[in-house]
Amino acid sequence: MSETISTTTFSKNDYAPVPESSLGPAVNEQGYYVGRIERNLYWVTDGVYQCGFLTTPDGVILLDSPATIGHNIQRAIDEIANANGVSNKVNFLIHSHHHADHAGASSLFGSDITRFGHEETRKLLLRDNDPNRPAPDETFQDSRSLEIGGERIELGWHGSSHSPDTSYIYLPDHDTLMLVDVINVGWVPIYNLNLAVDVPGFIAAPEIALNYEWSHLISGHMGKLGSREDVALHQQFIGEIVDNLREVFTTFDPTVYYQSYWPNMWASVSEHLDEVARRACAPLAAKYAGRIAAVDIDSFVLSTAIWILESLRLDLGLGIQVHP
Ligand SMILES: [Zn+2]
Ligand SMILES: [Zn+2]
Repeated sequence: MSETISTTTFSKNDYAPVPESSLGPAVNEQGYYVGRIERNLYWVTDGVYQCGFLTTPDGVILLDSPATIGHNIQRAIDEIANANGVSNKVNFLIHSHHHADHAGASSLFGSDITRFGHEETRKLLLRDNDPNRPAPDETFQDSRSLEIGGERIELGWHGSSHSPDTSYIYLPDHDTLMLVDVINVGWVPIYNLNLAVDVPGFIAAPEIALNYEWSHLISGHMGKLGSREDVALHQQFIGEIVDNLREVFTTFDPTVYYQSYWPNMWASVSEHLDEVARRACAPLAAKYAGRIAAVDIDSFVLSTAIWILESLRLDLGLGIQVHP
């Protein structure tokens, strides 16, 4: 007889309701929604992840291959291709970055397709050696212009942010930008500022995104496309955490922590910085209620604040004093 882990200790937390504006269209029986963005550009979501695809005379160009959407990617393409009498054969795949959750369905499309990605995406995928994610053969450094099946796609890299290889995929003739894992449209970032490997780069990314001309954002997450207003709301939210952290950190006197816990210095540091993060985030839940989902999930918001605070200290030198 096999043992199962008891779930009797589970008790449901009472989180604030998800704002209607943070939710997208309902998914079908198979668990996906596919919609047209403009002309021959479409997006697919399972409510948590998103990808995009272009139907062209040279076959389908897929933009990311999230594992959770998996085989539903081809089902969504088939649905659109059948309705429009165009090819359903994926011949090209463009990666937003190397992470397994956004790239894990890549191998479903075989070894005969052409994969594009940043040169760091290639390096990291060769390193990770995951059979589900073959490394792209076609790479770029700072930018690369593609024309496939008569459609223009501009690949750009503007520095490390969420990941070292986070890329901007711009479709100028479809009024669309794809930038993944930076702006969770209508939702807070998850742990540690959406796991940003470079905090200043992550904080700068939305402005870079807005410097492109577009109306539709494929953000890789949750169930809806983004608008420029969604990016501005994300910027406002992150900007407010930064401002509050600066204010609290530079005015808060932590002496008592360092006196009381000595010689347990890690206790002092943890209690001090956690308290700064808590105070900086305290006004957010009420202020953004009904506009951004999950502002009351402390593990996401507080870890995000701590991650930003460490960057303010270590990248920008805030509060770092040289001993006299
Ligand atoms: Zn990622
Ligand atoms: Zn993601």
